[in-house]
Amino acid sequence: MGTKYFFGTGKINPIHPAGFVIFGTLLLTALFFKRGFCGWICPIGTVSEWEWRFGDWFLKKLPQRVSYVIRNVPTRFTAGLSLVFTPIIALLILDVITMESFKSPLFRYLTPAYILAMVLPFAIPRKIWPDKVNDILARAWKFSILAFFIQVIFIKMPIAQLEVLYTRAPFVRVADIKMLKFFVNMSGMALSVILTIFIISLINKNYWCRFFCPYGALLGIIGYASPMRITRDTGKCIDCGKCTKACAMHILVEKKKHVLTHECVACYDCVNACPVNGALDMKLVGDRKKIHYVLYAVLLVGLYVAVTNTARATGHWYTKISDAEYILRISELDQPKYLHKAGQFEME
Ligand code: SF4
Ligand code: SF4
Repeated sequence: MGTKYFFGTGKINPIHPAGFVIFGTLLLTALFFKRGFCGWICPIGTVSEWEWRFGDWFLKKLPQRVSYVIRNVPTRFTAGLSLVFTPIIALLILDVITMESFKSPLFRYLTPAYILAMVLPFAIPRKIWPDKVNDILARAWKFSILAFFIQVIFIKMPIAQLEVLYTRAPFVRVADIKMLKFFVNMSGMALSVILTIFIISLINKNYWCRFFCPYGALLGIIGYASPMRITRDTGKCIDCGKCTKACAMHILVEKKKHVLTHECVACYDCVNACPVNGALDMKLVGDRKKIHYVLYAVLLVGLYVAVTNTARATGHWYTKISDAEYILRISELDQPKYLHKAGQFEME
């Protein structure tokens, strides 16, 4: 919302300016450094990485067949859910259905469709329905979530409505407190979903980042414009496959001249795993300049720190809501005016 407001009015919203600055900085980093934010800064990505590194160590102790099944079941499960979820979002984008239509009698077919979709990836033999198909389907989910936000905010929400929301909607004024409350007083359902993702992340590399994160999806798309890419020197490469094995995002690095995909988080794991000096590097377009990972990290983190601190120094970081207003609103947080009713907000 803050980003659309900025592009529509040229102003930073006065209610949650830091949120906009952080989001805007992420988009900026992607323009130069691809999904480097995911690989080097994101706290969720960091926890995910620690988890799978631990899980990897554990799975290596199990028989190969068992660890193969453990790794692949969550992907099939996600692919099944995505089979239903993705077309629904596509229909929303095409406006064939609206949010209201979720109450339509047509949606009585949703449960059988979910059951079918969950069974399909497990029931159809791998020769006909290979793991690659599951992986592609599962990865579609994050683009579905991204498309949903683009539809609801960027396409459907007029700038005038955003102006009203930022000045008169009580829900928007306490959105950050609501978010904190969500995590502090977590419902059983939310806790089970987060725990499930946490546990699966132990056995499935970068589970959240690969399949669900809409921010990662957006940074990946913007990252196509970046002048940097992992580049393989086919003359020096000895085809050992160590780069592909090292890639937690399951990219077939050993087969590519340039890694040009929205999935690459620029983590340099493949480069560090390569045994041949100069066979694999992060390079600027045109295969000219090699970028060492220390330089890459300094530039990426430096850009992030510079932009966010400039926002602080120039007064574009702190909300215009006073402490007194926050205290009052926190005391009345359970009132109906602070509810978000399927896109409808009360005004004051
Ligand atoms: S291992 Fe290499 S190809 Fe894979 S995500 Fe990291 S930098 Fe990109
Ligand atoms: S690790 Fe290096 S040498 Fe081995 S396949 Fe990848 S690029 Fe080639």
